[in-house]
Parts: sequence; structure tokens; C-alpha cells
Amino acid sequence: MTLILRNAHLLSGDANPDRAADVDIGIRDSRIEIICAAGSTSIAADREADLNGLLVLPGGIDPHVHVRDLGQAYKEDWSTAGAAALRGGFTTIFDMPNTIPPTENQVALEQKREAVRAAHGNVDARFWLGATDHTLIDLEAMLQRRPADVVGIKLFLAGTSSNEVVHDPETVRAVMRCAARHGLAVAVHEELQACLDAAETTGLPDHASAHGQHRPRECTVEGTRLMCRLAAETGCTLYLVHVSTEEEVAIIREAKAHARIVAEVTPHHLFLDEEILHRIGNVGKVNPPLREPRDVRALQQAVRDGVIDTVGSDHAPHTLDEKARPYHAAPSGFPGLETTFGLLLNAVNRGVLPLHLLPRLTSTRAADVFGLVDRGRIAEGARADLVVLDPAHKWTVDPVLFRTKARYSPFAGMQLTGAVVATLTAGVFVDYR
Ligand SMILES: [Zn+2]
Repeated sequence: MTLILRNAHLLSGDANPDRAADVDIGIRDSRIEIICAAGSTSIAADREADLNGLLVLPGGIDPHVHVRDLGQAYKEDWSTAGAAALRGGFTTIFDMPNTIPPTENQVALEQKREAVRAAHGNVDARFWLGATDHTLIDLEAMLQRRPADVVGIKLFLAGTSSNEVVHDPETVRAVMRCAARHGLAVAVHEELQACLDAAETTGLPDHASAHGQHRPRECTVEGTRLMCRLAAETGCTLYLVHVSTEEEVAIIREAKAHARIVAEVTPHHLFLDEEILHRIGNVGKVNPPLREPRDVRALQQAVRDGVIDTVGSDHAPHTLDEKARPYHAAPSGFPGLETTFGLLLNAVNRGVLPLHLLPRLTSTRAADVFGLVDRGRIAEGARADLVVLDPAHKWTVDPVLFRTKARYSPFAGMQLTGAVVATLTAGVFVDYR
């Protein structure tokens, strides 16, 4: 045996506390070989670690990461993003296609794969392909090759930081049909550009605290309504990224009855409202914007109800210099990989979320939706991807300690209870204790 993790406290994906148990986990190379009651095995291993009853979950799968690299390596690269992912408990990350160059053709995809290889990291990379009004032929050609590392097609209904917008509803339909034919999901940034363009913004303060008025909530609500309708019409699996409003929750709840809809929430929409923008300004500028307290409450309820399926960090690094520009010129987004698990555990400790939902939100549901059959569960034969959590550990978010190049956070200074203490990726154990 390569490694034995002793006294791991496992959590099943359901609410039955009897199924939580302390076990020893034997790992050979990159796979889990044996799981048995703690102390019941005397198998020798090259390496052992005693987890002393710490909580062990499947390694996190983050479906929403902007790794940057290539033309934007100054913001982040695969080496720093990979280190940030592992430190944050994520062993698999899906990279978004709005990079430079955008992942819209085979050459760009190969460049991205090469950047991952060159980083020699342990995080497992998957890719979203980008859709534009003129790339459908390229997408079809790429998918004909049945690439195992492609999870789906991302489309933007509005401009955010560096991306191409799909304007034509016929293209949206065609992209969804194309994805459905290949058994893949379509992810969508829901804000509608035409709605944003029509928004009345004269007289609004030129400050991030008014970002939610500069990009009004109706635009994301309309986009979500449109996409849910198209999902029902085309039969495509729709992955709604960063759901942010109470109205979208109601639309999704209803639409799930007759369409394949998977809804993601970010930690920032789940735990912050726009009030914080008066204090942190552009650091908290993000698309879609932070919303109102009622939206935070509705999103938390939707997670508890199962209407929300996954948590995606929307890790979107920029330099601090870029974020320090005046409001209109500052890019949207901030890092999230290293705070997500801590924020979720903290919410569990505060009684906001039940503990048993954590595996579903952070790995199991994503593994099922995106067909990652070898992970998202702790089982003999599965890939040895695990995250070790200390639910009682108190810490303060200090961006200076981040592995990402983007060393700032809207959560900076927040005191959290619950932390990632180790990760195992394909058998490689990194203990941060
Ligand atoms: Zn994003």
C-alpha cells in the first residue's frame, strides 16, 4: 500500500448520521484500494497519516474557475491556480474559456492543455469550450474527437471581463442542440446584454456600491428565464452559473420539473450582500453583482431545499492594480478557491447549512452531472481525491497567505470556523497542518 489514512471521519451524502463512521483508507498509487473500520487493519504502507477523526470528504470539484494563464499569466497561471485549488480543497477544476486566446478552437484547446502540463501540478484540469456567434463549426469539429477533458460549452449572454457575447438566440439554440448531441452541458452567464444596454444608469454614483443598479437584477432574471425555456425546448443540460437573485430561484424551482437544469451558487452570492461594497469598493465588484439581503436568504434556502445543486467559486483573479482603477475601468471578479470550503464549513457551524449537503455541493453533484465517474465519492476503486477538514478550526481570512496571485478578497478579515487541513489528489497527500 502506498498510503494509509487512519481515523478518517467519513460523511455520507445523505442525512443519516449512522452512516458517518471512522475508517482507515488504504491508497495504492492513485486509487482508493480499501476502506475499513478504523483500527481493524494491520496492513503495512509506505506512509501513514493519522487524521484523528477529522472530517474527510471527496476532493472538491469546482466547475467554475478562471485560471487565466497564457495571455493573462500575470493575473494567474496553472501553477498558482493549481496550488490555490489544492490549498482550498479542490482536486478537480473546470477552467472557463474566456481566456486569451479564448478556448474556441482546437489550437487554443491544445495550448491550454500544454499550459496545464507545463505547470506540473497535481490538480486535475477540465475545460469549458467557448461559444460565439461564429464558432459553431469549430465546436462541432472539436467535439467530434470526443475529448475526455471537455465538460461542456460556456456561453455569455452579456459582456463581463474579456469574453465574447452570443447575441443571436438561434445560435444559443444551435449550441444547446450541439451540446445535447454530444452528451455535454451548456453553461451560461445569464445577464442579457440587450437588457444591460437598455438600463437607465444616468445619475447613478460612479462607485462599486451602485454596481447592482448599473447591472440591474432584471437582466439576469430575464436571461435565466430565457435559458430555462430553451433548455426545455432543446433537451440540453443547462448549467446555470452564479445564480444571484430570489426571482431566479423561483424560476429554476419551477423549470426543473420539465428541463435538465443544474444550478450553481457562488460563496459570495451565498454569504455577502451589496452593503459590503460601501466599504470594499471594487474588490467586491463582480458580475452578476452582489445583491440584497433577501437574495442571500433565498439562495441559502434554495441550497437547503436542493434547488441549488453546486457551489462554484467563480475564482476570477485580477491584479490589485487593476482592481484599484476607477469603478468603470476596474475588472469584475476576485479569487475564491481558497475561501470556499472555509465559508461553507462556517455556515454549517452557524446552522445556516446542514453538514450532510457539503459533499453534494462541492463534488458529488458535479461528478454526476459532468460524468466524472471515478470521483465525487469515497469508495474502493475511486480516484484517491480527498479533502480533509477540521470543522472546529478557527481562522481569519488573510489574503497575504493565498497561493493565488490575486491576494485580496471580499472576505478578508472575516473570522471563520472550519478549515481545509489536507488534500489528497490522485494519491498525492499534502498536509497543511
Ligand atoms: Zn465566471
